[in-house]
Amino acid sequence: MSQTLTSKQPAKLRCAFCGKNNHEHSTELWQIHQDAIPANAKLATMQLGFGPRTLAKIVKWNTVNGDESPYHVEYIPIYISCKECGSSMSSSEAEVADVLSQHCLKCFSEMTDQEYSWHSKPWWEVNGGKYMGGSK
Ligand SMILES: [Zn+2]
Ligand SMILES: [Zn+2]
Repeated sequence: MSQTLTSKQPAKLRCAFCGKNNHEHSTELWQIHQDAIPANAKLATMQLGFGPRTLAKIVKWNTVNGDESPYHVEYIPIYISCKECGSSMSSSEAEVADVLSQHCLKCFSEMTDQEYSWHSKPWWEVNGGKYMGGSK
């Protein structure tokens, strides 16, 4: 029996990575977002400055000399990393990670040698249109 995860999506699921529901993702993007979430990790969202909420995993470190010391708790932001350079993507890049084939914008434009002008529109307008298409 071989079932592929991408072949069927449950009716309505909220993406733990970006907080949108699965209908606002393409199948590829959904998969990329789910793959970015570490299994068996405690998750939380954190806000960095005035930026968007970012998914983070909670890591508790036991103190070494076991007295009743409080845990040291650390929030580690979860990002999708670029396939090419390994740097973490911004949330706007992560939203279109399927379009960028999981590359950061910098690598993506180097890769494509900026030959795609997206019909001279900024890329986020084009991709934004794609993902908001459901409301029409
Ligand atoms: Zn998502
Ligand atoms: Zn990169």
